[in-house]
Amino acid sequence: MNEAVHWSASLGGRTNVALVQAGTFRSDAGTLFGPVPRLLWDRLVVDEIDPDNRLLQALNCLLVETPAGRVLVETGIGGRIDDKGRAMRGYDGPWIVPALERAGFMPDSVDVVAMSHLHFDHAGGLLTPEGERAFPRAAIVAQRAEWEIALGDNPRLVASYVQPELRLVRDWGEAGWAEGEREILPGVTVVPTGGHSAGHQAIVVRAAGPGGRTLAFFGDLCMRPWSANPRWVTAFDDFPLDSVLVKASLFAQAADEGWIVVLSHEAIHPVGRLVRDRDRFRFEAD
Ligand SMILES: [Zn+2]
Repeated sequence: MNEAVHWSASLGGRTNVALVQAGTFRSDAGTLFGPVPRLLWDRLVVDEIDPDNRLLQALNCLLVETPAGRVLVETGIGGRIDDKGRAMRGYDGPWIVPALERAGFMPDSVDVVAMSHLHFDHAGGLLTPEGERAFPRAAIVAQRAEWEIALGDNPRLVASYVQPELRLVRDWGEAGWAEGEREILPGVTVVPTGGHSAGHQAIVVRAAGPGGRTLAFFGDLCMRPWSANPRWVTAFDDFPLDSVLVKASLFAQAADEGWIVVLSHEAIHPVGRLVRDRDRFRFEAD
């Protein structure tokens, strides 16, 4: 444990998880709350909203260590974004490779990189600034449906992806893509969800043995504490009705089985639990 690790825990069964933040960026607050009226969300963000009406979004990544190998979940925005993009996004590093190194994890020790989806703020760290593979030994796992949308030509859908960058890693992506649910290492499973993007997936870690805990990373279906309400979906969600349905069913399982939940973009208290609250859920930070 050191200051480069935001949070870490043992889940049992010689399975450990470390949360490493690959910097922060800023997103328009109204867009993050989608259909929810400002009157309802204003009070939740008074401390962080900036003069441009943006919220601070952390780039939360997980390093999962199991007896079978190391999985990195998410890669953040990366180190290849130009100054204009950096300024526009309010992006402040370090990108994932130096962030991991500072936390004591060497990039060539990663066996699998699993990404919830391929939007710019999740798949940006696959290459070094020089264009080399940032995780030279790793397979990279996103859903096949996500690769097809990301490299497709629907102008509404591709706006959140950086196509030139993704084309550079297309072969790498195709070699590892998942079609549906798949256990990528014993105890680490990707579960397709759709909703936020066509091929969005959750990553679930189940530690083996008695007392083993389960941890879920729901990607951008659960960015911030208020995402616990299945009906509160962002304007970035390409298929919002799917988001509402899949959130309701996954969050029910997480609440009933006491899973540890890690939020994808919460900066300060990103780890906690989902609790049933009338017809919805509430996120309670640890
Ligand atoms: Zn995101």
